[in-house]
Amino acid sequence: MQKIAIFPGSFDPFTVGHESIVNRAIPMFDKIVIMIGHNANKKSFYSIEKRLKWINQVFKDRDKVEVQLHDGLTVDFCKQVGAQYILRGLRTSADFEYERAIAQINKKMHPDIETVFLLTLPEHTPVNATIIRDIVFHGGDASMFLPKGLDPNEFKVEKPPKE
Ligand code: ADP
Repeated sequence: MQKIAIFPGSFDPFTVGHESIVNRAIPMFDKIVIMIGHNANKKSFYSIEKRLKWINQVFKDRDKVEVQLHDGLTVDFCKQVGAQYILRGLRTSADFEYERAIAQINKKMHPDIETVFLLTLPEHTPVNATIIRDIVFHGGDASMFLPKGLDPNEFKVEKPPKE
């Protein structure tokens, strides 16, 4: 049986931290499906089209990695794609506490699905999508936190006019 993992997140935007977790997990699985959690009622910073395009671009040469959108429960998506594993990254003890509860609840409800954690590389511990959005919003350059090979100009946003 193929070992399939999903890597769920909002990836708003996809960072070097996310990229590193996926690359390090590639040898562990036959296939990794990056699941962009997409809630039609929630406003995101970057459009779903942009996020999909960027992640596809980052892994264009990696046959084992694919990207899909999902609006709903992560475990339902696992069933949909036949995944037995949920991959998550851990940066801090705050991540751990949050992730622990979700993973244990998922395990209780779906004993056949395992959550697998990879500790972030030390240099990626402070890389956080919220901070990156703030930098971009205020016109700063966040390119060092974004995967190489993507066009940094595509990450710039128009600042809304002051009221
Ligand atoms: P969510 O909105 O579910 O937190 P994110 O897009 O922020 O989704 O992150 C998806 C996954 O990537 C989570 O497991 C998160 O812990 C992990 N992650 C986020 N940033 C980093 C990082 N800098 N290094 C390693 N893992 C990270």
